[in-house]
Amino acid sequence: MSRVYLTGAGPGDVELLTLKAYKVIKEADVIIYDRLANPDILEMAKDGCQFVYVGKEDGRHVLPQDEINEVIYQNALKHAIVVRLKGGDPFVFGRGGEEAAYLYERNVKFEIIPGITSAISAPAYAGIPVTQRGVAVSFRVVTGHESPNKKISQIPWENYKTDDTIIFLMGLHNIAKISQKLIEIGKSKEYPVAVISRGTTKDQKVVIGTLEDIVQKVEGLPTPALIVVGQVVNLREQLQWFEGDK
Ligand code: SAH
Repeated sequence: MSRVYLTGAGPGDVELLTLKAYKVIKEADVIIYDRLANPDILEMAKDGCQFVYVGKEDGRHVLPQDEINEVIYQNALKHAIVVRLKGGDPFVFGRGGEEAAYLYERNVKFEIIPGITSAISAPAYAGIPVTQRGVAVSFRVVTGHESPNKKISQIPWENYKTDDTIIFLMGLHNIAKISQKLIEIGKSKEYPVAVISRGTTKDQKVVIGTLEDIVQKVEGLPTPALIVVGQVVNLREQLQWFEGDK
């Protein structure tokens, strides 16, 4: 009986892999991975392990999601231990839920191995706590993929007036519209924003700005990148630890 492990690879720094993920990666007969999973992780696999790349390049899928689902299923028919390795956490904008549902419908056993999501760890490596007593009592992780100009939005923009931290994933290409929208709902133009590119890796870059000027500042910044909007961004001045340390 085969088993599929929908496994979080963590955000980039290989050492942020969980012990449980490490264990199944070492035992895997096949690893199905995408672009966000650090390729160094594949070197941990045993001799003879097969590798299948189904990656996404900046939102463009090498394979559409239904084909990825089928690739996972077909591999489960052939191999005992299948690792589906996904960047960050498999259930945070990773479509891991869809992959698990596809397997459930076909009676394939699966396990979910959560990973450290970039949404929290990239800010942490940039010296930005997503919550802080007296500054932000909650944080939201929001898709930046949907254009804020969309007529019928699934995103409750009006709720975003508070000082809760907002973390946009997949949003760099929409950053002009996102900043504009947040100003429209009443946030100040001076409101602090950070953009973190390739967080937790040796290529990490952090750009700090305001809702008004962040767009110019991030020009040419490489992906993957996420956007943090909130007063917590100011804490970086004291809490930055990673970049100077490399
Ligand atoms: N499941 C992943 C997220 C997948 S969506 C997770 O939990 O981290 C892909 C988005 O994640 C990218 O567009 C980017 O916004 C963000 N992302 C992933 N890795 C990142 C990194 N190392 N640094 C900054 N952003 C990252």
